Amino acid sequence: MSVFDLIDILALRQATDQCIQCETCLDVCCTSNTADGPAMTPMDRLAIIGRTLAGNAPLPDEVKAIYYCTECGRCDTVCPQEIPISETIADGKVALVNKGFGPLEKHEKMIKAILKNRNAVGKPSEERLAWIPDHLKAKVQFEEAEGDTLFYVGCLSSYMDKATAAASLEILMAAGEPVKLLRDEYCCGIYPYNAGKWEEAEAIFTEMAETFKRCGIKRIIVPCAGCHRTFSHYYPRLLKGFDIKVVHIAEVIKELLETHRITLNPSAQSLTIHDACKMGRKYGLYDTPREILTACGATLSELPHNRDDALCCGSGAGVRSLDAPLSMKIAGEVLKTAETETIVSTCPFCIFNMNYTARKTDAGKKAVHIATLVRSVMVER
Ligand code: SF4
Ligand code: SF4
Repeated sequence: MSVFDLIDILALRQATDQCIQCETCLDVCCTSNTADGPAMTPMDRLAIIGRTLAGNAPLPDEVKAIYYCTECGRCDTVCPQEIPISETIADGKVALVNKGFGPLEKHEKMIKAILKNRNAVGKPSEERLAWIPDHLKAKVQFEEAEGDTLFYVGCLSSYMDKATAAASLEILMAAGEPVKLLRDEYCCGIYPYNAGKWEEAEAIFTEMAETFKRCGIKRIIVPCAGCHRTFSHYYPRLLKGFDIKVVHIAEVIKELLETHRITLNPSAQSLTIHDACKMGRKYGLYDTPREILTACGATLSELPHNRDDALCCGSGAGVRSLDAPLSMKIAGEVLKTAETETIVSTCPFCIFNMNYTARKTDAGKKAVHIATLVRSVMVER
């Protein structure tokens, strides 16, 4: 059986047929609102997938429209037909690849680089652990140690948002949480999965699952919304029997606070919370980050669009690698509507894209990860 057989073509066709073209989804799509060029609305994307499954070859602009979806899921929340639009577009990409119409050239290049470098940011794999703070270097545990909990750092935190990686490990170690790291951590594989290149994704997933098994891993803690979605949703879909428990560091922090394993020295500050799509709409983690930030002493501001209605940061599902200016334009919308200088998120990729955009546009805003914020007010023991 091939991975392509896992796609339920009948369900995809039913989903595309259900669209009554009411246009309700047009206003909520971050890419159709900000992109120039081909029609890129959720409704148009469904129609393209429907036509492709019916045997019509998609035009190049139509393939592009499918791949310019960030899979943010905002359209799912407004469709009166309750069509799982973002999932349909995601699975539609796999069908496009299987029929030889996808992905785009940039995806192929990125995937080749990920397989070569073992990370999604084009950096040397031997520098992956450079984020470990000096004072923890002698104490950190690796895969051969006892224990079944892995702190899986992810490509973005390992290389581009090292403060998140360091803060997360400092919190876990201060609490005496018995976590270990991998010496040669591999990209989780989200990029080829989201590009519809499931054979390449399956190869990465399989290697990682074997590593987890060899190291006795039964629980994975991640600081990244993308890694969370990948291990909790994509791995079980492609790998039969994969059932390792996956938790986000914010969930762990909440537990550590409730059980008094870490203590905070609250500091009055004004913060805005951003709901990352994969932790919010796709997983429902809304109250936990707000409760944690309040415990840190923050006065919280909400973005005008929040929780289920939150705006995407613009970087998901490979869109940033295809069109960085578009991703920045979308992130700019989030930055513009934040009332405070600091925006807190649960995803290093959102943080990276928002900070990059803020720097390039002199937006006067900055994004930080919730772990970094907690670490800044944690009492040393
Ligand atoms: S998932 Fe997001 S980007 Fe994709 S079509 Fe829906 S609203 Fe647009
Ligand atoms: S909201 Fe649903 S039914 Fe209406 S156009 Fe969009 S996908 Fe079609």
